[in-house]
Amino acid sequence: MPEAAECERARVRRDRRYDGRFFSGVRTTRIYCRPVCPVRPALGRNVTFYPTAAAAEAAGFRPCLRCRPEAAPFSPAWQGSRTTVHRAMRLIRDGALDGARVEDLAARLGIGSRHLGRLFERQVGASPLQVARTFRVQRAKRLLDQTRLPMTEIAARAGFASLRRFNAVFAEVYGQPPGRLRRRAPVAA
Ligand SMILES: [Zn+2]
Repeated sequence: MPEAAECERARVRRDRRYDGRFFSGVRTTRIYCRPVCPVRPALGRNVTFYPTAAAAEAAGFRPCLRCRPEAAPFSPAWQGSRTTVHRAMRLIRDGALDGARVEDLAARLGIGSRHLGRLFERQVGASPLQVARTFRVQRAKRLLDQTRLPMTEIAARAGFASLRRFNAVFAEVYGQPPGRLRRRAPVAA
């Protein structure tokens, strides 16, 4: 756990980087919180810092219902959602969203699509569809560099619904059409 002065700075700034690294117990309310708690921070003189939720509870504090210490980083719930996101990333990489809906992917993972969207927003910084699009473009780029396959074949193998879609997305991401990138790439004979 960081030193008390560092915890205090993180607490009043609601510094996300410290989430899960300490909990603060408020003497006046007997409630303990994560550094990211949305409730207005209590006065520093009433606050004591603990390295874990268990330590705060052992000291007699109850978990806050707003910042939910049970979902803090490194908690079992947090580990579980990381596992879910990892599984989702693997499935998307393997084409789970090429021609299928986010709802279907979420159902395979046993959660709702809105929950999946929130997990991605928080842990990946992009939506499942954005991730799928990047994987598709990357697949296509590898095929462009490493093969002499015709464009329609590359579009299909990379998971694009059509050649037109492939061209449009590729131009958007790379700022030039796929054909121009291929001409530049040295291909081993
Ligand atoms: Zn709280």
